[in-house]
Amino acid sequence: MKKTKIEWCDSTWNPVTGCRHGCEYCYARRIAERFRPFDMPHITEDGVFEGINDLATPIITECKDGKDRTCAYPYGFEPTFHRYRLDEPERWTKPRTIFVCSMADLFGEWVPDSWIDSVFAACEKAPQHRYLFLTKNPQRYCKNEYGYGVPLGDNMWYGTTVSKREDVHKFNLLPAFCNNTFISIEPLLEDIEAGKSNIMFRQVDWFIIGAETGHGHNNIVPERKWIEDIVNECDKYGKPVFMKNSLIPIVGEKNMRREFPWRKEISNE
Ligand code: SF4
Repeated sequence: MKKTKIEWCDSTWNPVTGCRHGCEYCYARRIAERFRPFDMPHITEDGVFEGINDLATPIITECKDGKDRTCAYPYGFEPTFHRYRLDEPERWTKPRTIFVCSMADLFGEWVPDSWIDSVFAACEKAPQHRYLFLTKNPQRYCKNEYGYGVPLGDNMWYGTTVSKREDVHKFNLLPAFCNNTFISIEPLLEDIEAGKSNIMFRQVDWFIIGAETGHGHNNIVPERKWIEDIVNECDKYGKPVFMKNSLIPIVGEKNMRREFPWRKEISNE
């Protein structure tokens, strides 16, 4: 489990890494590929991946400096279960707000149910933390062996990503009867016409907004009005909104809102 630069959580925890959604703006893929070892087991010479990787112990590889280190992404950005990380939340005694699988989509269709169930079981063993799950495939929240959907403890939060107008309908797929839902509007790639999505703003409990980041020359810079429309809708329905620092150049620091649906603990660990 790692401390993180992600502004809306204290830590990330990545028992599963890798994702096959293929978003062009993906920062996680860039990181994973950067740390991909030269000799990748289960990757053929043609670069074809064979099988799903379920690691009971970390893979140690020799790095460019000749030293052996734990390899965080032994298969690059291919889905990998780091089973040996499951007990990390238990060992972290001080309560944290944890973004689960920041380097994956845990609810991607390719992820075995057993991996998801193991992650939930690990959360259950460490109830001192708050867990935030985020997926681009929210229909999977309702499809696992629990039958009724995902576990709905007070400390469990479920979100989905909305970047464009065509994504807005996904809020309907967040777990039913859950009071801990959020929408991550990041990266905001076009005007989502927030005023036309009032049911989303009524139903969902928290909104995060951010712009595309990274060094791409074609990054889309959201218009100020797109952002203001979202914030106005949040205000209309009394919903907290968290604006990421990537919006400061667009709206100015004095207009930033960094609200949480819970009291924000300050962590010093
Ligand atoms: S869903 Fe997230 S992790 Fe997966 S490719 Fe897209 S940005 Fe990357």
